Amino acid sequence: MKNFNWTCAYCNQPTTITEPNFSNGYELVKTSRSEMRYVAVEHTAIACPNPDCKKLSLSISLRKYGSTSMRAKTILSKHETWQLLPHSLAKPQPDYIPEAIREDYQEACAILKLSPKASATLSRRCLQGMVRDFWNIPKGRRGNLGAELNFIKDEIDSDTFDSITVIRETGDIGAHMEKDVNFVVDVEPDEAELLIELIEMLFANWYIAKQKRIDRNKKVREQSAKKLAEKKQAKSASNQSGNDEPAT
Ligand SMILES: [Zn+2]
Repeated sequence: MKNFNWTCAYCNQPTTITEPNFSNGYELVKTSRSEMRYVAVEHTAIACPNPDCKKLSLSISLRKYGSTSMRAKTILSKHETWQLLPHSLAKPQPDYIPEAIREDYQEACAILKLSPKASATLSRRCLQGMVRDFWNIPKGRRGNLGAELNFIKDEIDSDTFDSITVIRETGDIGAHMEKDVNFVVDVEPDEAELLIELIEMLFANWYIAKQKRIDRNKKVREQSAKKLAEKKQAKSASNQSGNDEPAT
């Protein structure tokens, strides 16, 4: 096995995976009487090398192959893959992001595969929660997301605004039944996944960047206060020693 770069979904730590932390293999399904005929179950497991994490990531795939005289080389297409561990691909988010917002995000990740439409709806709700909380939309101005976004339009760059519009519009598809119920607009899994990535980007650009700024400013203030105190102390010490000098 070749080493490969990987980011742990539990601790979010980018790392390189080498042999002892990786396991992959398959087992033949012993009946060929289903409509799928010849299939094998493949497992892929990675143990996180971060000593503070060590969590197991595990997925199972169903692979098809040609006939009973199967050798390793004849394993064919991957039919379907299930991510078993972690249960969801939600990345850990810091506590200073309000819990309700983190919950919507985690649920959007958890439901992604089963229902991209529901996931997109949750991402949209998560976005609305963020817009209201982070940008302090006054109670009187809260209503539909479109109006709330217009309220903050001048505060954010056009790139971010375009991304937000994508989340809103795809989420709307998930949330509202079209007038004609037979006219179904589906949300594709990769669209719903993109929305989750956009939500993660907004977490990073809004909450995490703001917190970093607060921490940095606090550190600068503390350091300059410390310097000032040291200077004062040095000055009073030199005054003291000045007073101690014998009068001539
Ligand atoms: Zn980890």
